[in-house]
Amino acid sequence: MKIHNFSAGPSILPPEVLLQASEAILNFNDDNLSLLEISHRSKPFVDVMEKARASVLELLNLEGKGYKVLFLQGGASTQFLMVALNLLEKRAGYLNTGSWSDKAIKEAKIYDDIYEVASSKDAKYNYIPKGYDIPSDYDYFHCTSNNTIFGTQMKEFPKCSIPLVCDMSSDIFSRQLDFTKFDLMYAGAQKNMGPAGTTLVVVKEDILGKVSRKIPSIMDYKIHISKSSMYNTPPVFAVYTSMLTLEWLKNLGGIQAIEKVNDIKARLMYSEIDLNPLFKGYASKGDRSLMNATFNLINDDLKETFDTMCREGGISGLNGHRSVGGYRASMYNALPLESVQVLVEIMSELETKA
Ligand SMILES: *Cc1c(COP(=O)(O)O)cnc(C)c1O
Repeated sequence: MKIHNFSAGPSILPPEVLLQASEAILNFNDDNLSLLEISHRSKPFVDVMEKARASVLELLNLEGKGYKVLFLQGGASTQFLMVALNLLEKRAGYLNTGSWSDKAIKEAKIYDDIYEVASSKDAKYNYIPKGYDIPSDYDYFHCTSNNTIFGTQMKEFPKCSIPLVCDMSSDIFSRQLDFTKFDLMYAGAQKNMGPAGTTLVVVKEDILGKVSRKIPSIMDYKIHISKSSMYNTPPVFAVYTSMLTLEWLKNLGGIQAIEKVNDIKARLMYSEIDLNPLFKGYASKGDRSLMNATFNLINDDLKETFDTMCREGGISGLNGHRSVGGYRASMYNALPLESVQVLVEIMSELETKA
């Protein structure tokens, strides 16, 4: 049976990427050695790292604009801390749009009284706050572009005169944005780029080196930049597989091309959620995420029937996050339109049955 993988993360990767990645575990670069047993300083791997870093800049249209790309470890969760260590001197502003922003705030608060410019906690994070002010004398402003758990997504980003830092873990490479607006972007690989184990950081170099504290080397962006993202042993498999996914995306026509497909998938998904009287969407309509559609059954008595139909149809990973419940259809770049079609069909079949 064909499986339709709606998992929120780690999540679906293109089948051709998985095939190539698995081949490299046995025989990388035709050297009869595994990717996992060669030096990360060997030319074949250094080439992988360089290709991955270059592809990121190419896809985000940031070549020659003063940005550096790093593939680090520790997940996006480590970036919550690293951002503060590297950029926070006096005070920073954070937009609280969900559990991930909340965690980012908690880590930064270790160093200072972070100012929450706005929060949607009052409505269980089902919308994106708007119309807030960002003090111009702060060190930076931090936001989360896509709220993976609650299914909301920022459609616009505030104009701000201070560095703009964004956690893009669950929607990077999914839609066209003017990425020059951002001074630091980070993303755990396992949502839309590769396997768990590496975290992408894209940083405008000129915002660094301005804090007075001593930064431990492993936490210092400048040190990682000076070593071309090879300060210590990088997670070779995660970087290699991410590189393959980035190549896959470039071959498809880049973000511009995938965005069209992502739009079609999301429109199909949300129109079923809205038209089918058995379901209701969780997120406020104008703020709905194109990546993670969150929804609930209006009558929970239908849960068992729906879950069985999903299982029989090969739908996998549809459970909502444990903090929200209900359902969540994650429609990352590698999820084919066909999978959304199958899910939507099951939902409408439930309607005829009920
Ligand atoms: C998954 C996720 C994280 C956490 O990533 P880890 O790599 O597990 O640390 C942070 N932010 C967002 C928006 C996420 O979706």
